[in-house]
Amino acid sequence: MHKKVALVVAPLLIAAACSTKEERPSAEPVPGPTPTVLRTPIGELPEPDMAAALAHTRVLASDEFQGRAPGTRGEDLTVAYLVDQFKKLGLKPGNTDGTYVQKVPLVGITPAPAPLIFRKGSEEQRLEWKDDVVAWSKHVADSAVLDNSELVFVGYGVVAPEFNWDDYKGVDVRGKTLVMLVNDPPVPDPANEAELDPKTFGGRAMTYYGRWTYKYEIAMEKGAAGALIVHETEPAGYPFSVVQSKVTEQFDLVTPDKNMKRPAIEGWITLDKARDLLRLAGQDFGTLKSMAATRDFKPVPLGVSASMTITNTLRTIDSRNVVARFDGRDPQLKNQYVIYTAHWDHLGIGPAVNGDNIYNGAKDNAVGVAAILELARAFTKLPVPTRRSILFLAVTAEEQGLLGSEYYTVAPIYPLARTVADINIDGMNVNGRTRDLTLVGYGASELDDYTRDAAGEQGRIIRPDPEPEKGFYYRSDHFNFAKQGVPALDPDEGVEYIGKPKEFGEQVRSEWTERDYHQPSDVVRPDWDLAGAREDLQVFFAVGYRVAEADKAPDWKPGNEFKAKREETLRTRK
Ligand SMILES: [Zn+2]
Repeated sequence: MHKKVALVVAPLLIAAACSTKEERPSAEPVPGPTPTVLRTPIGELPEPDMAAALAHTRVLASDEFQGRAPGTRGEDLTVAYLVDQFKKLGLKPGNTDGTYVQKVPLVGITPAPAPLIFRKGSEEQRLEWKDDVVAWSKHVADSAVLDNSELVFVGYGVVAPEFNWDDYKGVDVRGKTLVMLVNDPPVPDPANEAELDPKTFGGRAMTYYGRWTYKYEIAMEKGAAGALIVHETEPAGYPFSVVQSKVTEQFDLVTPDKNMKRPAIEGWITLDKARDLLRLAGQDFGTLKSMAATRDFKPVPLGVSASMTITNTLRTIDSRNVVARFDGRDPQLKNQYVIYTAHWDHLGIGPAVNGDNIYNGAKDNAVGVAAILELARAFTKLPVPTRRSILFLAVTAEEQGLLGSEYYTVAPIYPLARTVADINIDGMNVNGRTRDLTLVGYGASELDDYTRDAAGEQGRIIRPDPEPEKGFYYRSDHFNFAKQGVPALDPDEGVEYIGKPKEFGEQVRSEWTERDYHQPSDVVRPDWDLAGAREDLQVFFAVGYRVAEADKAPDWKPGNEFKAKREETLRTRK
């Protein structure tokens, strides 16, 4: 689970008063045709074995597995356990080389603390490491340098042709250091100035253009030497302390160019220091920020330079994705794949909390991996196999920035054009049955319709992400599939517990966030109740099963930001 810390229930109440597309009341379905599916009622499909799921979870989250960090004995034990289970279920090796693993080369980069210096003539502004600036270099190199690199304010730094938006306006920023704002440009609705325009960057909902990862990617495309994002708590969705946790070793994929195309230095600066910087440049932060919310915005050279030297400590490891295949029955369609993903990795051994230093990651995400094992078992219980094939992919290094899934989607074992859907499981409900199921990014693709219908057969409803402005859709492994155009489903737990007081959902979630999230106390507890998880898994099974049986593969909804990528992939299909 990747920084899913702030998901609370309350904003739904506020949402009812607004009008952007993600904020419909949960009972109201997203308009759109229900895809043609083989209509076996959900109750007649094979069931996940929850006792077995709990047993897998206990093993994976045991102290013996040492918190399942990539590159440790915990990885060896985890990979061996999963391969063994898939073999026992009779699934085929998922890799075409005849194995159940895909090697994922990772590099761990630890930057040494260093100050960032802004200079204008004889004036100098010094930003202290961690307090004022958090920066790193993704270059697989001993050091990276910004040497009096010219600073340019590029607003939100966005190039979004579908919204007729380009913050660069053809200005050459090669070799320069970009100062950028986080989130999407907040464009007012022409019909109501008090609201954001739902037709531009999704209104209140965050699009990928708003995510910090996008900002560094566009900086790379533009050939910038440096990229600094101004941290603001509200639009970022989290406080600076979350950014500060990035000063330790960070893993990345090893690309053939050793990431040398990326900016030499990427990072965040605090809002206070950004205000100071713009003052030094003779500008005003508030004024530039308002200008940046318009299509007419042009890059503003600041007449200030940036200097910083980062020294890296490097180590490389070969981590592994585990992959198993359930063959489809249709001569043609069996070459198409529905993928279930769940990340097997967690944080390993770390600082002791109350005398415990093993970060067991039971809910995050031993239980999700257990879930895909039991979904696999359910598929083997079908009287006849599905038309399409099913892949079960347990990915590594999610906690390090979704790296295992990124590797799979840039080096896929089966072509992405023939990968029809990803269903991702990151955490499961351990607190009993719910009336609802949350879908992050509800309305993104036809997979949401399948999910709505399956949940509906159980008498349950779909709840949209209560905080679309925080961009949760971009924060787990399904996102790497979406980014490559594959329709991807991001389900999350419901919040309305059956037979419990109304506030129970919020209570268990905030207890989890405050007490257990990314802590050694994320363990299997005696009071776990998987009755709700069982129903959720029935839904995930029904969705995968019906997609695998359907005549037509699912698609993104019109207007979705990943639709163009899908169309491009399908055009180049072999
Ligand atoms: Zn996590």
